[in-house]
Amino acid sequence: MASFHNNSAQLVKDAADIVEVIGEHVTLQKRGANYLGLCPFHSEKTPSFSVNPTKQFYHCFGCKESGDVLSFMMKLHNMTFPDVLRDLARRYGVQLTEMALSPEEQERLRKREVLYKANALDKAVSYPASQ
Ligand SMILES: [Zn+2]
Repeated sequence: MASFHNNSAQLVKDAADIVEVIGEHVTLQKRGANYLGLCPFHSEKTPSFSVNPTKQFYHCFGCKESGDVLSFMMKLHNMTFPDVLRDLARRYGVQLTEMALSPEEQERLRKREVLYKANALDKAVSYPASQ
């Protein structure tokens, strides 16, 4: 198992365009400074999913889902953090330095991921598909 240097996430976020990445999964319309679309995380007919290109984050006013381009990909595709980083880094030409993790670090990473998934699952249960 390998991980990345601490600034890797920032490098990838700087290089990636959140509107472009999310726009491949959600039809976005420009609304003022932001982009608006139908939320991919809950079922809706009126767009309440907002993407802010300046701050590079998204927020849904319906299910309160929010985050950056990395957490969007993790939640939408159920990918792990390192997988999303690798994916976007390759796409945007960011050079990542992978490094070996100590067992403690691996454990910490694993726990964080479990928490993250539990949280996402919790939201899916709290917001069933409805009109
Ligand atoms: Zn939503």
